[in-house]
Amino acid sequence: MSVLVYVEADGGIVKKSSLEAVAYGAEIAKGAGSSAIAIATGTVAEAELANLGKFGASKILHVSDERLNDGGIQATANVVFQAAEKESAGTLVMARSSLVDAIASRVAIKLGASVVTNVVDLPDTSNGFVVKRGVYTGKAFANVAVPGDKKVITIAKNAISPVESGDAATVEAFSANLSDADFAVKRTKVEKAEGDILLPEADKVISGGRGLKAPENWGMIEELAKTLGAATACSKPVSDMEWRPHHEHVGQTGIKISPTLYIAVGISGAIQHLAGVNSSKVIVVINKDAEAPFFKAADYGIVGDAFEVVPKLTEAIKEVI
Ligand SMILES: Cc1cc2nc3c(=O)[nH]c(=O)nc-3n(C[C@H](O)[C@H](O)[C@H](O)COP(=O)(O)OP(=O)(O)OC[C@H]3O[C@@H](n4cnc5c(N)ncnc54)[C@H](O)[C@@H]3O)c2cc1C
Repeated sequence: MSVLVYVEADGGIVKKSSLEAVAYGAEIAKGAGSSAIAIATGTVAEAELANLGKFGASKILHVSDERLNDGGIQATANVVFQAAEKESAGTLVMARSSLVDAIASRVAIKLGASVVTNVVDLPDTSNGFVVKRGVYTGKAFANVAVPGDKKVITIAKNAISPVESGDAATVEAFSANLSDADFAVKRTKVEKAEGDILLPEADKVISGGRGLKAPENWGMIEELAKTLGAATACSKPVSDMEWRPHHEHVGQTGIKISPTLYIAVGISGAIQHLAGVNSSKVIVVINKDAEAPFFKAADYGIVGDAFEVVPKLTEAIKEVI
C-alpha cells in the first residue's frame, strides 16, 4: 500500500511544513517497501510540485481547481479522500495547519482509518506501528500504537529534518469529483498578518514581553529579528495592551510555534506562555531576574537588562554573519 502526503501551498509556494510531511511519508514508504505520492490542490507552480521528488515523492497528483485556493475544508477533505482511494493509500501523512487539523478526522472517517495527530517523530515499526505524539500542550509525549491497514497521521513541525536529494518527480493532473455543495462554505474576507516572515512558519522567532516596558521599545527586537531573518512574537499581555498585533501573541491562548530558535526577551515564562513555545528546538532567554521561571525551560540564558543585552547581541551577530 502506498503512502499519500497532502501538500499545502501558500501563494503558489509549497510550505516548508509540507516538505517535512513529504520527507516523513517517504521514510515510512521506504520502510514498508512502497512509494510516497503527494497530492496538492489549487494554484501551485509546476516546478514547485516537481521539486517534491527531491524530498522523496515518486509522483505528484495536482488538482488545479482554483476554487481550492480558498482552503475549503469540505472540498479539500473530499479531494484528499479521493486521491487516497485512487492510490490505494494505506497511510496518509499531513503537516499540521488549521486546515489539516480540520480535515484529518473527516478524511479518516471517510477512509475508515485510525487517526493520530501532532506526531513528533518517525514511527517505530519494530513491533507494529507506534508513533510519539505531543500531549498536554506539548508538556508531555504519548506513544500510540496504531492498528489496522489504514492510518491518518498529522505531524508537528520539526518531526523530521527534510534533506533535499534525488530527482524531480512527475506531476500528474488529478480530476477530483467535486460538487457545488463542497464549496458551499465560502471565505468572505482574509486579513493577512504583516511582515516578510510569517510566525507559524518561521524558523527563528524573537519574542518580547512586558519587560520591554512600552511599544516604542520594540525597535531593538525588530532589528535583532531582521538581523537573524526571524519573525517577531510577544506574550499575551503585550498584545492585550496593543503594544503588538494580536497575531503575534504566542502561548496557550495564542499561536503555538515550534521554531528552531526562540529568543524570549523580558518574558517571565508563565506556564501559559510556555505552552505555546516549549517545543522550540533551542530556547534562549534574556531576563534581568535570575529567578525568572523561563530559565528552567531555556537551553541558554542571559541574566541582564534587555536594553543593554539585545543591542549588543545584534551587533555581535552582525559581525559574524
Ligand atoms: C487562562 C490564561 C491563558 C493565558 N494565555 C497566555 C498565552 O497564551 N500567552 C502568554 O504569553 N500568556 C498567557 N497568559 C498570561 C500568563 O499567565 C502571564 O501573565 C504572561 O505570560 C506574562 O507575560 P510577560 O512574561 O510578558 O509579563 P511579566 O509576567 O510581567 O514578566 C515580565 C518579565 O520581564 C522581566 N523584565 C523586566 N524588565 C526587564 C528588563 N529591562 N530586561 C530584561 N527582563 C526584564 C521581568 O523580570 C519579568 O520576568 C494566560 C493567562 C491565563 C490565566
